[in-house]
Amino acid sequence: MSDKDIYGIKKWGKEFFEISKKGNLAIKNPFQRNNVSIELISIIHKLNKKFSPPYIIRIIDYLEYMIHQIHEKFNKSIDEIGYKNKYRGVFPVKVNQQAQVVEQITKYGKKLDFGLEVGSKPELLIALTQKLSKNSLVICNGVKDEEFIKLCLLSSKLSFKTIIILESIKELNLVIKISKVVNILPLLGIRIKLTNTISGKWSQSSGDRSAFGLPVEKITEVIKILKENNMLKCLILQHSHLGSQVPDIIEIRKYTQEACRFFSEISKEGAPLKYIDLGGGLGIDYTGQNKSMAHSINYSLEEYCFNIIETVKLELDKENVKHPIIITESGRASVAASSILVFNILDTTLFDTKTCPKISKTDHIYLSYMKQILNYLDKERVQECFNDLNYYRDELRILFRNNQINLKEMAKIEKTYLFILSKMKALLEKKNNVSDDVLKAINDLADIYHGNFSLFQSLPDVWAIDQLHPITPIHKLNKKPTRRAVINDITCDSDGMISKFVLNDGISNTIPLHEIKNNEDYYLGVFFVGAYQETLGDLHNLFGDTNVASIRLLENSEFKIIHEQIGDKVSEVLSYAEYSPTKLLKNFAEIADVSVKNKSLKVNEKNKLLKIFKDSIQGYTYYEN
Ligand code: PLP
Repeated sequence: MSDKDIYGIKKWGKEFFEISKKGNLAIKNPFQRNNVSIELISIIHKLNKKFSPPYIIRIIDYLEYMIHQIHEKFNKSIDEIGYKNKYRGVFPVKVNQQAQVVEQITKYGKKLDFGLEVGSKPELLIALTQKLSKNSLVICNGVKDEEFIKLCLLSSKLSFKTIIILESIKELNLVIKISKVVNILPLLGIRIKLTNTISGKWSQSSGDRSAFGLPVEKITEVIKILKENNMLKCLILQHSHLGSQVPDIIEIRKYTQEACRFFSEISKEGAPLKYIDLGGGLGIDYTGQNKSMAHSINYSLEEYCFNIIETVKLELDKENVKHPIIITESGRASVAASSILVFNILDTTLFDTKTCPKISKTDHIYLSYMKQILNYLDKERVQECFNDLNYYRDELRILFRNNQINLKEMAKIEKTYLFILSKMKALLEKKNNVSDDVLKAINDLADIYHGNFSLFQSLPDVWAIDQLHPITPIHKLNKKPTRRAVINDITCDSDGMISKFVLNDGISNTIPLHEIKNNEDYYLGVFFVGAYQETLGDLHNLFGDTNVASIRLLENSEFKIIHEQIGDKVSEVLSYAEYSPTKLLKNFAEIADVSVKNKSLKVNEKNKLLKIFKDSIQGYTYYEN
């Protein structure tokens, strides 16, 4: 039994995940604190009866819980601080555009006047088909063409509160022109560029060099143009966005302070600003370290809300400005926890050997020297042993290249090398001060576990920006893992490797995993993948969207699958790459016909082949049992 939480589940799992009594990863119901949790493996077993992994498991309750929490904490701070207006949330659709996510959020959020933020025409169309409350906002960021602007203006006839956020002077002129043509006054917001910068991975979204928002000289120009057109009365919202995953609460405070200065000044210019929108940025503690660093945050949700409300009140009271409705656009924090990627391990490549080959008289003398290292291997002489080991192995490799050692002899040498290195590894587990090359060699000894998933499709941020997501086996958590591994995906790309892991002791280059015996099923879960990952992913090697199951948590360890979304079929990914599946089948049949004519293929073989081809076209893109 392993009683240690080696994966740090208590630290990052918090109100969402825990280890069950049976040693399985369990999903807690955060709305019902004392309720028993649901073992993720039981959901997987149920799904396996119909589908194949990999899966995205989407827990609808977690979406609702986070929306609820964000509102509750803001409202609590409003009461405590005596802020004289409301909080209103919007969900930035780009963070997860999937229909199930947006629909569930807007359905649950209706009673909270929860709205949506969009950044493109397709996202606007999504927003304009949701049943929002009459006070919910549709905040339109991004570059807008005539069609986009017309849709925004006309949507006000359908009782949507659609706010056009001005991103440039050119856009403002277009909005003025179109609003005169359609004879509808726009609801306008202005996106300001703040000078404060943030740390962390999204620092380039903040400060003078950020790509978005109007600098101060353009803000004055916007006000001038609006006044000239008698449209300053339309400017009701000030927008800013600091960047995602802000690690430090002080940065949030400073940024809010600066946003308030602009708010006061623009209000003094006569704009009837009613809303201050502070964008996204609320982070997730992926590592559970609770520190101001990448992948972690040094604040709680409660602190975040309190700091914003307090800062806005203090700053605006100083200048006697009426308290506006405060908006935030928390994407990551709202949806990250709700999705888990679950995949099975297809195979393992183990880089050690439990037995040391026996040396015979015919073996090269260097092999026996190599083996003698075991006689003087101890903690104090590891570096010396490592040097000797490499010297003999390299000399023997030269002999192999020069045709003086055969394949079988070389295999014996490499096996002996790995055996001695694994003995060193065991010795070093308790010793820290060894040189980098010894450590690297030991790390290179990590096993490779081959997973049935595509890093490029399902975890694009891990590939592109070294994002860390907690990863754990979803079962056997009460058994001591005896292997250390890196995880390789199913694509034929060496970049498809995960080699940074969140563990209880900190970040590690390898993950402890269990030995897989007799082809048993072994599943890993990747957590907090609900934000940004699902649509950012690409079709590398033509691995498509995974199967998705949306789950609702019931009482007494029960759950209900409320929606199943079948992952991309081979035919679908082929179509994305401009192939016509029908034409491919026709071409294949023609090629087979030629072989039948040449008598290299029998007719019944051809029919079997065509059936396999047809089935493959309709199949899942991942490994299927
Ligand atoms: N609002 C805007 C304008 C954004 O660009 C983003 C993303 O960067 C967000 C909101 C969401 O940010 P987060 O996911 O950090 O909450």
